[in-house]
Amino acid sequence: MSTCHWCTPQQQQYWLQCGDDSGASTRRDGGDEGEDDADTDDDDADGGPSADAVRLLRAYARGRLPERRALAAEEDLQYCRDCLSEYHSARAILLSASPHLRQPLWLLEEARVLRQLRSLLQGTGGGDDCRGSDRGGDDIELVTAYSVMELQASLKLPFMEMLQHAHLLLNKDTCSLFVQGLERLQGVHHPFKVDSDDKLPGIYLLFTHPSEMVRKWALLTAREMGRISRDDYYDLAEVIGCLLRVVDINPFINPDLYSAALEAAAEVDGGGGGNSSLALMLLPRHLFDPTNHKSYWLGVCMLLSLLEEQAMESLLLGVDRKADLVQAIMHTLEMSPTDGTASNISAFWPALQCLMLLLDRLGSKVWGGHSMDPIQVFHKVTSSASYQHEVDAVRLAHW
Ligand SMILES: [Zn+2]
Repeated sequence: MSTCHWCTPQQQQYWLQCGDDSGASTRRDGGDEGEDDADTDDDDADGGPSADAVRLLRAYARGRLPERRALAAEEDLQYCRDCLSEYHSARAILLSASPHLRQPLWLLEEARVLRQLRSLLQGTGGGDDCRGSDRGGDDIELVTAYSVMELQASLKLPFMEMLQHAHLLLNKDTCSLFVQGLERLQGVHHPFKVDSDDKLPGIYLLFTHPSEMVRKWALLTAREMGRISRDDYYDLAEVIGCLLRVVDINPFINPDLYSAALEAAAEVDGGGGGNSSLALMLLPRHLFDPTNHKSYWLGVCMLLSLLEEQAMESLLLGVDRKADLVQAIMHTLEMSPTDGTASNISAFWPALQCLMLLLDRLGSKVWGGHSMDPIQVFHKVTSSASYQHEVDAVRLAHW
């Protein structure tokens, strides 16, 4: 019989009965604020995860599982796909009843994934010594006991979890290890293959990543998963919003303003989450290069190229649109080559390509709500300093 913690109901009952809720020898002080009574809500889980799985997760989130048991439960999440699935189903139910447990769970998840990836990629053990530390991101040379195939298999579940639950990529260290893993596999010509029929949000969150290798991997993977329909769009709306809100503040021109917005978002979110207390509101700096305007717009282009017409309509014209994309494109097209960073000039073509993609799919609807006359827009673009600069550059290249 399986002895998994999360996917085996008999084990959950056993662990719960054995659980030492007195707090002695537990992993940490739960600080549960006297809300034990909420456990009864979990019995309503109908057709989803078992009520015991939700109870087990509640005890885990509050730090009430003894250390050894908590570590064993975490280990199951690394090796058993059913456990991982049951854990996240239970998580959704738990957080709908007890949203205040989101932050402690998030921190536990980050620490768990960090520990797993460090162990796999840097040869560090799973002991307490590496938990929560800031050890390196460049230890790729450290010897690992795993062969390529074993490494690929071992990274499967942690990577799939990060791509499915994209908030885990908001942490700079977990994201850095994810990239290390991708590079390691790419370097031996065994690129990481996503094993899912669902469009995983984390893939799209990597479209503007500073590393070209990561961006290419994300685009190829996303293309394999097919175009984004309107239903997909609503599933991915949080991540797409996170990517596009960048244009509202424009860190390429206003880096200080963007820094202030990131700090404000962290405070609103509770501030206790270190690198990742930003939820999926603003794109953190490790997921894009604020000095490279071009690569950001190339990422937006990649995203737009995958949207079906109806999804694009929701993005641009929906009541909950994520950013004023058309205005941002116009602003980029009209920028002078001397505005802001030196790379602004090169953002011209990808921004223009974004506009062409929108016009191709939506036609005149693109101008809806902007009171823009297409003829005037055309003249604005062709008379902009960036356009003239680009035309001159093309002429010189063919002289
Ligand atoms: Zn299991």
